[in-house]
Parts: sequence; structure tokens; C-alpha cells
Amino acid sequence: MNMNPITDTLNRPLRDLRISVTDRCNFRCVYCMPREIFGPGYAFVPRKDLLTLEEIARLARIFAQIGMRKVRITGGEPLIRRNLEHLVEMVSAIDGVDDISLTTNGSMLTARRAIDLKAAGLRRLTVSLDALDDETFKKINDVDYPAIRVLDGIDNARAAGFNDIKVNAVIRRGLNEHAVMDLVEHFRGSGCIVRFIEYMDVGETNGWNLDDVLPAKQLVEQIHARFPLDPVDPNYRGEVAKRWRYRDGAGEVGFITSVTESFCGDCSRARLSAVGQVYTCLFASEGHDLRELLRSGADDDALLSRVRSIWSARDDRYSELRGLNVPIPGSGRGKVEMSHIGG
Ligand code: SF4
Repeated sequence: MNMNPITDTLNRPLRDLRISVTDRCNFRCVYCMPREIFGPGYAFVPRKDLLTLEEIARLARIFAQIGMRKVRITGGEPLIRRNLEHLVEMVSAIDGVDDISLTTNGSMLTARRAIDLKAAGLRRLTVSLDALDDETFKKINDVDYPAIRVLDGIDNARAAGFNDIKVNAVIRRGLNEHAVMDLVEHFRGSGCIVRFIEYMDVGETNGWNLDDVLPAKQLVEQIHARFPLDPVDPNYRGEVAKRWRYRDGAGEVGFITSVTESFCGDCSRARLSAVGQVYTCLFASEGHDLRELLRSGADDDALLSRVRSIWSARDDRYSELRGLNVPIPGSGRGKVEMSHIGG
């Protein structure tokens, strides 16, 4: 049923839908949910305002009718959402969706949960792990959570049959650049693919500064000096990470270069927040509400035409413009927090 994907004003097809199922998380990572802002008094979304799992699945069906093929489930921390396996089952039954993945901090990835997610139809897992030494990792997650327990989560996922697990690490100068080679050495030859993410100015609360960005190019050189690397072609148009392969056959390592080498030209990602707002860019300031339409009894055609008009009018290329140092439309209005729309 997958018709030709609709395209936006820059001729980019709608292929990927990132679905945030909660704005809550049990970590307080300093580059995403700093405790000073997301402290005890922070007003998280009340349950009644969250889309139900059925509402989320219905919207995913709508997106699939205009070309969406890949779903990534995110948060906050998605495993906080109860009965998430039911959503995975519903999404995996949608005609046209040929990939479902999930990004997690790994803290709730028990052996049981990994087996249930796999059985529900989840295809791929990405686990965030920004350092292996507890001093650094605990400084980053700010909830005193040890790295070994995230590694246990990864082992549970592997035992449940998840292959090609991705391990995402955000590298910030002065915080965890020393963790790069630890992560490389730990995961080389393991079948897991580490992806180093350039520290980004997502949201308005992480105190981002360009000086704290460690360009991926430097990380490639650092790793190459120890373990020679060769570049690898992307798996598909719009793949986020730049792929490199260890020359000695020990697998791959990836780099997400939003700050130094933007990739807006092929960006095929839409984002759905847990309250039913569609964001057409990670750095957007405003979303497009679908919840009211959903809850007003609108039929699929009305939802379809709404989503179609949102994507067709899309012209986002924040990272590209940031790189050109030119004014970015709407940037004065305050960017949405990453914990609201997922990475
Ligand atoms: S900055 Fe926005 S348009 Fe560019 S790649 Fe990221 S999400 Fe896509």
C-alpha cells in the first residue's frame, strides 16, 4: 500500500517517523535533561494529555499511507511507558512499515523486557552510553547510574536475539572525550556499532556552546591512528550516521555530524511528540497539533490531508543554516526540548 512518498519543498521524501511516547526519563543527562531545569518541580505531561498507544498507532498508519516506512520509538526514556510492547505489535502490523527500532538508555532493558519487545516485533535497538568509566558516566546521567548496568541491558538484548545493536555516545569536549577510545576498544569485534554524536544545540536548556563540540573528523583521526578505518557508503539515502569500517575486520563505527557536516539535504524524518505534535526538524520551535483533530472524531482522510500539508510545506534545514552562520527562521522562538521529541 506504500504509495510514493510525498516530498517537502526541498524534494525530501517522508520516510522516517520518530515517535516520542513520553517526555519522562529516569536519567538527567546534562546535554538533554539538566537537573536544574528538569528537577522535582518540573511539570511533565499529565497522563490524560499523552496520546494513547492506539492513537499513536493510528497516526503511524496515516504516515505510512504517504510513504513512511521506518518507525523509531523514543522518549524521554520510552521503556518508562507501560505496555509499550502493545504499541510495537500494532506498529509492526501496519502495511508498509518495514522497520521498527527503539532508542533507550538501557536501564530498563531487563532480560524479560528484551524478549517481550523482540516477540512484539521490534527489529532494532539503539542504546545510549556516553562513557564506560563510572566517574564520567555518572557525571553525565546525573542519577548515579553505573555503566555496567547499561552493559547488562545490552547483553540482555543480545541474548533476546537483537543483532547490530547501535551504541550512541554524545561526545562533549571537557566532559567525556577521554571515553572515546574506551568505547571503541570495548565494542570493537562485538557486533555492536558505536556511533559518536557531535554535541548539539538541541532545545534551550543544555547551555550549548560551539567550543564544546568535538568535530567527528578529529575522532576519526584519533581512532584511525590506533585502528585504521575505511569509509563505507551509506545503507540508504538519508542515513544519519556516517559509516566507517575497521580495516582489520572488527566491524564498524559511526559518526553523527550535525554540527560540522550537516545532512539536512537528505533528511526524511518527521517527529511525533507524546502529546500529538508533529515536528519537522529536531531543532524546530513549533509543532503541528494532531491530537485535537484525532480527539474531535476526524476521519482518516482529514488526518491524511493534515499530515500531507504539514510535510509538503516543510523547508527545515537548521543544521545547514547553522553551519552557514546565517539567520535561521523561527530560531528566536525557542527550540523544542529533545526529551519531548526524541533524538
Ligand atoms: S537539522 Fe533538521 S532538517 Fe537538518 S537533518 Fe536535523 S532534523 Fe533534519
